[in-house]
Amino acid sequence: VKKRKIIEKINPYVPGKSIEEIAKKYGLKKNDIIKLGSNENPLGPSPKVIDAIKQNLHEIHRYPESNINDLKKAIASYSGVSENEIIVGGDGADEIIDLLGKTFIEPGDEFIVPLPSYTYYEYALKPYGAKLVPASWDIKKNKLNVDSVLEKITNKTKLIFLCSPNNPTGGLIDKKEIKKILESTSALVIVDEAYFEFAGISNVDLLEKYPNILILRTFSKVLGLAGMRVGYGISNPEIISDMHKVKPIFSLTRLSYIAALTVLKDKKYIRNSINYIIKSREYLYKELSKFKEFKPLKSHANFILVDIRDSGMTSTEICEKLLKRGIIVRDCSSFRGLDEYWIRITVGKIEENKKLIDTLKEIL
Ligand code: PMP
Repeated sequence: VKKRKIIEKINPYVPGKSIEEIAKKYGLKKNDIIKLGSNENPLGPSPKVIDAIKQNLHEIHRYPESNINDLKKAIASYSGVSENEIIVGGDGADEIIDLLGKTFIEPGDEFIVPLPSYTYYEYALKPYGAKLVPASWDIKKNKLNVDSVLEKITNKTKLIFLCSPNNPTGGLIDKKEIKKILESTSALVIVDEAYFEFAGISNVDLLEKYPNILILRTFSKVLGLAGMRVGYGISNPEIISDMHKVKPIFSLTRLSYIAALTVLKDKKYIRNSINYIIKSREYLYKELSKFKEFKPLKSHANFILVDIRDSGMTSTEICEKLLKRGIIVRDCSSFRGLDEYWIRITVGKIEENKKLIDTLKEIL
């Protein structure tokens, strides 16, 4: 069977390790494992979501609704925009990234990403023949190097990804800098706000003035639905309607739809989760700062990137030692823009953070 040439050039994507995988590999009990590797909500899903899913289980022999106006309305109200400015992805925000490739990329086009950043952009866009043009994130200041983006814009630039707060560094991008980039190009500028709730800052207001911005968001982080795979994009109605033309029709399952709709109504769960995680993040940052071997970066998200080079170990070595003791954190050694001395720790429950800190003391 003859495949496309590009397929040979794509390496399989390696997501964060799952609890099941680690339990099996290290002979541990699933319930003893602490997962601080994928930036999920440590408090679990909203109980109201669990109830709503149970009540809708008897309908799963039916195809999902293709008209999801209720959900679009709820997202519009959560985000302060209109329904026709919203597209919902049934494989999370990752599906929206894929739709960007389908809608905007011709082979040979370029997209700019300040590195390090979210690794899926490159993986999703490569199959469309797009080329990643790296810009830089100033890791010392934990700030975007805005000039490095402006310098890379050419007439081949189709997309520019600005992740704020940035995964994996946790730094925020100034609105002024986003505006500067929007004004310097007609390319579509994607502001990835997967973690905006933890920063309390959004760039949705820029939609009013700029036709070339798309805000990317997800239900996988504070909304506690990573396993249901729901994400959304917000942009002007023309871009949204073009993206709908190439979207898989039934990617949002019945249960994901009901889960997403229900959690947005559970304002108390959302508020409590945000407050808890911010408090827990500040605790974790304080504790990590006490280690002479570590330099944690100040974070506006629900994870902390840590420079571990003074420990005398590589991130792969530290991660392996933690895994054997049942703790999953993210080894960032394969992230473009970082070397082999960085780990990313998701903010867990206070007691999970404590266990991590005690275990780190043991292995250093
Ligand atoms: N953007 C960023 C910055 C992320 O960290 C993630 C999740 N890891 C996503 C997008 C995708 O989220 P999902 O597909 O789970 O909605």
